[in-house]
Amino acid sequence: MLNANMEIEKQKSSLRKIILALRRAQSFRDIEKKSGDIRRKLFTFVPFSQAETILFYLAMKDEVQTEKMIEESLQKGKRVVVPFIDWQRKEILPSEIKDLTKDIEIGVFKIPQPKNNSYSPFSPVNIDMVILPGLAFDRKGNRLGFGGGFYDRFLGKLSDRTKLVALAFELQLVDNVSSQSHDIAVDHLITERGIINCKKL
Ligand code: ADP
Ligand code: MG
Repeated sequence: MLNANMEIEKQKSSLRKIILALRRAQSFRDIEKKSGDIRRKLFTFVPFSQAETILFYLAMKDEVQTEKMIEESLQKGKRVVVPFIDWQRKEILPSEIKDLTKDIEIGVFKIPQPKNNSYSPFSPVNIDMVILPGLAFDRKGNRLGFGGGFYDRFLGKLSDRTKLVALAFELQLVDNVSSQSHDIAVDHLITERGIINCKKL
């Protein structure tokens, strides 16, 4: 069991390096274009339209960009929550935002985050949908993160009805992402090519 877990950790760590390099090789123009395609797909997705309260991740420069998605959601009257990261406890604390430019600053590891005085705690059980990032995914929804387990730890606090939707570039899709017992799979994946319903596969 211990050996099996060590083997999986090795696989995870080499996959992280491969995908990070692939993602970094994209131009920002390319990233913006694909992010636009993904945003349009998200906004036609019925469970998204029905969700009133959505947690969005705040994107770093190589990730699928979420700024416009957040702005459009706020315009549509949805409640938007973002991660406030407690680095010591390795925890994601949901924080509601009303205005992207006023409430957000660039934080640790160049990850945008709510300003300290804008931190507005929001109960995880009241979130309808979580839009999450990741490094690699397979079509079953298995997710590889940066290796901190932040989302695995956070997703356990949500209600069972909360939908988990990951955004990724097509180049982040692989045949198989090895998972461990603590890993939580996503329900849907959206790439620039389409929407994948993971639970149906
Ligand atoms: P990531 O999901 O970021 O790719 P991993 O799944 O490899 O990272 O998890 C990283 C670490 O976080 C692991 O050592 C794991 O034990 C720990 N972890 C993940 N989920 C939990 C949890 N629910 N409770 C406690 N520790 C966890
Ligand atoms: Mg994990």
